[in-house]
Amino acid sequence: MAKSTTIGYPRIGADRELKRACEAYWKGSLTAGDLRATGMALRRAHWEAQRSAGIDLIPVNDFSFYDQVLDAVALIGAVPERYHWTGETVDLDTYFAMARGAQRDGFDVVAMDMTKWFDTNYHYIVPEWTAGQRFRLASSKIFDELAEAQSLGIAAKPVLIGPLSLALLGKAQDEKVDVLGSVLDGIVTVYAGVLERLAAAGAGWIQLDEPCLVQDRTPAELAALQRAYAALARHAGGAKLLVQTYFGHVGEAYPVLTSLPVAGVGLDFVRGPANLGLLESHGFPSDKVLAAGLVDGRNIWRADLDRALTTLETIAGTVPPDRLLVSTSCSLLHVPYDTSRETGCDEELRSWLAGAVQKCEELVNLTRGLTDGRDTIKAALAESSARQASRAASPRVHNAAVGARLASEVLRERPAYEKRRIMQADHLGLPLLPTTTIGSFPQTGEVRSMRRRFEAGDIDASAYENYLADTIAETIALQERLGLDVLVHGEFERSDMVEYFGEQLSGFAFTRHGWVQSYGSRCVRPPIIYGDVARPAPMTVKWSTYAQSLSNKPVKGMLTGPVTILNWSFVRDDQPRSDTCRQIALALKDEVADLEAAGLSTIQIDEPALREGLPLRQVDWPAYLDWAVTCFRVAASSASATTQIHTHMCYSAFDDIIAAIVSLDADVLSIENSRSGGDLLRVFDRVRYPQEVGPGVYDIHSPRVPKVEEVRSMLRATLAVLPVDRVWVNPDCGLKTRTWAEVLPALEAMVEAARQIRAELGFPGGY
Ligand code: GLN
Ligand code: ZN
Repeated sequence: MAKSTTIGYPRIGADRELKRACEAYWKGSLTAGDLRATGMALRRAHWEAQRSAGIDLIPVNDFSFYDQVLDAVALIGAVPERYHWTGETVDLDTYFAMARGAQRDGFDVVAMDMTKWFDTNYHYIVPEWTAGQRFRLASSKIFDELAEAQSLGIAAKPVLIGPLSLALLGKAQDEKVDVLGSVLDGIVTVYAGVLERLAAAGAGWIQLDEPCLVQDRTPAELAALQRAYAALARHAGGAKLLVQTYFGHVGEAYPVLTSLPVAGVGLDFVRGPANLGLLESHGFPSDKVLAAGLVDGRNIWRADLDRALTTLETIAGTVPPDRLLVSTSCSLLHVPYDTSRETGCDEELRSWLAGAVQKCEELVNLTRGLTDGRDTIKAALAESSARQASRAASPRVHNAAVGARLASEVLRERPAYEKRRIMQADHLGLPLLPTTTIGSFPQTGEVRSMRRRFEAGDIDASAYENYLADTIAETIALQERLGLDVLVHGEFERSDMVEYFGEQLSGFAFTRHGWVQSYGSRCVRPPIIYGDVARPAPMTVKWSTYAQSLSNKPVKGMLTGPVTILNWSFVRDDQPRSDTCRQIALALKDEVADLEAAGLSTIQIDEPALREGLPLRQVDWPAYLDWAVTCFRVAASSASATTQIHTHMCYSAFDDIIAAIVSLDADVLSIENSRSGGDLLRVFDRVRYPQEVGPGVYDIHSPRVPKVEEVRSMLRATLAVLPVDRVWVNPDCGLKTRTWAEVLPALEAMVEAARQIRAELGFPGGY
């Protein structure tokens, strides 16, 4: 008998109950007891939803008040010293201080670092490893939640981040730290006690997540994996350990992984179809259970049941059904809760979507289909095939004109950069060290409230548009007063840089309830790209030309790039990502042409998500970078030589993709630099960057206003590695989240610093 399981379930609540409870607790309007009660109610609802769907083995400890990696940090007592934690167990306030920083009665600490969870848009808290750090059991969460589930009669499978992944996800704070040595050993020692206690409490299966095994791993890391599990296996008692991987195939780790002294191994057959080849060529140990991930935990589409069942039957040729767990490809954390609630969206489209609730049904059907035969799920198979057929044939998915254009259009390269540079200098007449901003200005409460009132129908379109026009006019006047050289309109009409474009492009849909946790209490509703992308009408021309009409200085047209739109959406699974990206690029290309025709001479195409789309394995990088760069160039390709194309990137490590950034061939790159302590300048010291570049001169994430002197020294550091006639002066990123009171003095300082340096270099008025 095959059994069904999930790797994890969304925890924020169908109506984001956890978000509201946490935020109320942080504000002081909810007690810790009430927060805990909300958590308990949500866990119970989520377990019961899975149980009533027919899931056999249900994850426990996938719940979190903030983040599952932070929970593991608390479990092993790895609280950094700055939190002054002395207790037996990690209390709620220490926990949230690590997540968010804290400022109360003379206690002022910054949060721990946060970064993207593999290639998802979920962010985890980065553990801090220090030399001589001691680990000890410091949380009873996993035991409490197991007991809670047991008392409800739930067939519970406690889940935990595996020791190797936990060790590797953390960041060593100094060179003396031996991550594979003392850190991993310390984690294993605590985990051994945890496993003993879980086993004694009656846990059947215990899932240890090791997603780091789908990335390139060194022999030393694989040896460490073996050591860790050899040690842990001795403490599992009567419990069965399941080592769970996800987000791709396990490649060279397969032989080691399948020979660990554990009872089960979990593989992702959705994102990692190569796992099937590994299974067939290496075989699978006859003493182990295989958790086969067949239902996509990362995307929003209904499974093609027939195809998934065929894969499952193939797998069953190697691993008999009684040793199979039918599973999701990863935790369902990355998909919305229940797509049947999207009654606002078109009925046909809705029938193609699956949230966690629908995905559980699929798992149960697949399990039954394998165990009892296809006939027993005939109706579900027929329904699934009908949906696949409706998607494959639907005119809302396929647009012949888009298909024809994609097939026929060749990339028309812009003239060589050095030639463009001369023409643009002549056309724009900018001073040395030109100053600019990244695009957005403060989205104040007023801006957001006007948008809400307009959307709710409380004010009409002309009132809303008048408001936007006034705000843009004030912002242009203000930038002129500040003395900025290249202006922006401020992006007040956009609530989100991807949503704004998705709403105007065909092939995109939006949900009402499709929230997905991004970090902590923050959730997003990613757009769904379901069909061929086309641009029925210009998207940004109106506000950009209006802004330009108010000033003799150049105003930058502001677009979100194709790769970023793709990476921040749920994308089609019926064609390669690169094709979808190219369609978006062609739509943007038309927008660039329209902006230019309307008189804009500078256009920025933002690509903050270029880096994060990098595949998890390095062999796959060149192919991704190749099509991603091509898509950007397609979008920019309609610009004439005199039109200056800017791009912008932020908050990732750029060292390893600097060659790709160069080959974007943008005329100007503004790039975050201050927040990461000038790391970027070291890259430019090593690699000659041929185009113009504006390394951010101050961190926009902090409310702190930089002093002229600080900006000057950042500029001096920049000029030490970049030629003065190629440097721009700008903040790290957009100013959307800041207040005007912070933005004004900061930009004043920035402009003043640029002026002083120009004067010192002997170009007071520019050239
Ligand atoms: N133009 C955008 C802004 O200023 C860029 C945002 C980003 O890089 N994430 O808001
Ligand atoms: Zn940015």
